[in-house]
Amino acid sequence: MSFEYAPAPESRAITTIKPKYGHFIGGKFVAGSKHFPTINPATEEVLSQIALAGKTEVDAAVKAARKAYTSTWSKTSGKERGKYLFRIARILQERAREFAVLETLDNGKPIRESRDTDIPLAAAHFFYHAGWADKLEYAGLGSSPKPLGVAGQIIPWNFPLLMLAWKVAPALATGNTVVLKPAESTSLTALLFAEVCQQAELPAGVVNIVTGDGTTGALIVNHPGIDKIAFTGSTEVGKIIARSVAPTKKSVTLELGGKGANIVFEDAAIDETVEGIIDGIFFNQGHVCCAGSRLLLQENIAEEVLHKLKKRMEKIRVGDPMDKNTDVGAINSKEQLTKIVELAKVGDAEGGQRWSPACELPKKGYWFAPTIFTGVTSAHRIAREEIFGPVLSVLTFRTPQEAIEKANNTPFGLSAGVWGEKGSRTLWAAQQLRAGVIWTNSFNKFDPTSPFGGYKESGWGREGGRHGLAAYLKGVSGE
Ligand code: NDP
Repeated sequence: MSFEYAPAPESRAITTIKPKYGHFIGGKFVAGSKHFPTINPATEEVLSQIALAGKTEVDAAVKAARKAYTSTWSKTSGKERGKYLFRIARILQERAREFAVLETLDNGKPIRESRDTDIPLAAAHFFYHAGWADKLEYAGLGSSPKPLGVAGQIIPWNFPLLMLAWKVAPALATGNTVVLKPAESTSLTALLFAEVCQQAELPAGVVNIVTGDGTTGALIVNHPGIDKIAFTGSTEVGKIIARSVAPTKKSVTLELGGKGANIVFEDAAIDETVEGIIDGIFFNQGHVCCAGSRLLLQENIAEEVLHKLKKRMEKIRVGDPMDKNTDVGAINSKEQLTKIVELAKVGDAEGGQRWSPACELPKKGYWFAPTIFTGVTSAHRIAREEIFGPVLSVLTFRTPQEAIEKANNTPFGLSAGVWGEKGSRTLWAAQQLRAGVIWTNSFNKFDPTSPFGGYKESGWGREGGRHGLAAYLKGVSGE
């Protein structure tokens, strides 16, 4: 028996979106000169006008961050810094619903995910790093670890507040000040976070937020007043940044793309594995750098897994992100939708067999049905390139060794998953996989205590955990 779901829309009344925003510099909101619209990708409604920072604004933000670093933050004890971080974490919890609604409106992700994953994890990152602020000398990173200075932080649109937390919390805990640029299409929660900084009475200039596009990001990267660059985004831009900072003394951490292998051995618990496959690729519309976008099935169970996977996919609810029953929301932008559509066409042309469940997509906004491609080989572009959408490429293997060879046959190395009952084999596989994060019998589980980052073209350095602290301290490597 199946039940129809009644609509369960979350109200947007809790959030107030201003018609126009400026930048947050030196503890105050300052007006921008040029603006561009930010839209709700589920409806194409213009939500607000976002300021585009140029050289003047970036200079002002770096100056404010330097002043705050020299005069205040570098002289503030770890215990005091920790208090501010705890305060920010508690305010994020208190205002969690407001943040979740705003994130969903601006990003298109389902409210269920922003409410249950993004915002609680963002608060958890501040709590975790608050705990470290007065214990840095016990982190095994030297007896008197010192901050780097001013950190320039550039974040993507897939987890806007969460990526802000991943960057701002460790920087502040270790005594650095920051200039952060959110992604062009998702600036609203970063601007609300600026209000949280004011509410927490964080000293002026410790956190500065400038909004804008890639040109603003490049101004931050190339600014001589910046000591460290922390970037999350595409491998393409990561390479540009690496080239720009190479002749300078700037420290850099890059968290880039991925093409995660999700390996299923013949002894895996199939029903649980199917849930893990769904989580691995359809969570956040597949806009996840560590998504399990390459499914590797042992040949003798492939038919059964695919049968169950398709049945499960028929139950995925795609639609209004503000509906609490929605599983898959809108694609974040028209550009991203175009990229997904084009790569899916390449999958067809290369001979992959495309399948999607019957689902009616909304007329307005940017949508792509959950999709799998079978008959894919390692040479296909959809097995090699990051699609960054709800598209799963399915490959098969016969022996564990073949699974590892196929899984590692990628320019990336961010994440992987292994499913199987036999512990010795899953642990063996985890050791062989060349990826920064490996889940066994689970996927897409995140925790601030656990370092996250990649090998090869997936980036440099780690974020989270003790290793993530190292990336903001002098003389210790981020790896
Ligand atoms: P980008 O890498 O272009 O964007 C990430 C951030 O960097 C944004 O804030 C962006 O600003 C900024 N930026 C862009 N160009 C520069 C530059 N030259 N110097 C400094 N900063 C810059 O990713 P996109 O949003 O364009 O997405 C493109 C593809 O990247 C996606 O299709 C996906 O495959 C991948 N991606 C991967 C992510 C990951 O976590 N691994 C996250 C996001 C995207 P702006 O928003 O204005 O462009």
